[in-house]
Amino acid sequence: MEIFVIANQKGGVGKTTTVMNLGASLALKRKKVLLIDLDPQSNLSSGLGFTQQFDKQSWNSQDEAPYKSIYNVLVDGEKISSVFVSTSTPNLFLVPSHLSLAGAEIEMVNMLSRESLLKKAIAEFKEDFDYVIIDCPPSLGLLTINALCAANKLLIPIQCEYFALEGLGQLIETTKLVKGINPNLVIGGVILTMYDSRTKLSESVVNDVKDFFQDLAFNSIVPRNVRLSEAPSYGKTIFQYDEKSTGALAYKQLAKEFIQRFKV
Ligand code: ADP
Ligand code: MG
Repeated sequence: MEIFVIANQKGGVGKTTTVMNLGASLALKRKKVLLIDLDPQSNLSSGLGFTQQFDKQSWNSQDEAPYKSIYNVLVDGEKISSVFVSTSTPNLFLVPSHLSLAGAEIEMVNMLSRESLLKKAIAEFKEDFDYVIIDCPPSLGLLTINALCAANKLLIPIQCEYFALEGLGQLIETTKLVKGINPNLVIGGVILTMYDSRTKLSESVVNDVKDFFQDLAFNSIVPRNVRLSEAPSYGKTIFQYDEKSTGALAYKQLAKEFIQRFKV
């Protein structure tokens, strides 16, 4: 089972959009895919329409959360099998997140093997998937470390914008440190996102990334496409929202290249 982590400590670079739509595209190609939402903001869970069944307003931090999430797995030791759900896309499954996860990094600090809690939970999960893809919060804290410890391939989305490469050194350093605990981890690929063909800047980011990462950069580049940003507010993947959009075509192309590269 290939376990991927999509990480970049910068926010807004397309991590969640990529997890959701690459995952959906793989599922539409009949791969069995499990997405794990490890961001307390829970954008992946709401983008897939999951949290919309619950009234978010009524929750405050003293209350019991209205559904079980990755929080219960990491902090309470619940099994993934008791928290994962199916989505409206066949073959696509989700381990949802919840805002309570925001406190988990502090609660986990004194726990034994705190970096390996997610790895252990996935190892105990007997259901078989072709791909597991983990979405990370925009930081290099304990949640992202857990994802890096659980995965064997890191995928880095890079936004074709100013300061695109800023912070990547730190991410790569963190990956090297994690290799001490998880020697299986390698960089599996770099995905260029929000490409705007009208700007010289986008072109120059693409060139810089290809110079630096060489073949690790996927040839499929995700364009800036407003349909991609609209779809999550309807709880839909891009394939359910507008399958003919340039965003949908790009994620389809990326999934094809992904399968060729990782051969599952
Ligand atoms: P991250 O998870 O890295 O914070 P998101 O995937 O949430 O990033 O993307 C940040 C914002 O940009 C979101 O509002 C998302 O809908 C939008 N977005 C992501 N990818 C694209 C794209 N290719 N074109 C246009 N908007 C995008
Ligand atoms: Mg996100």
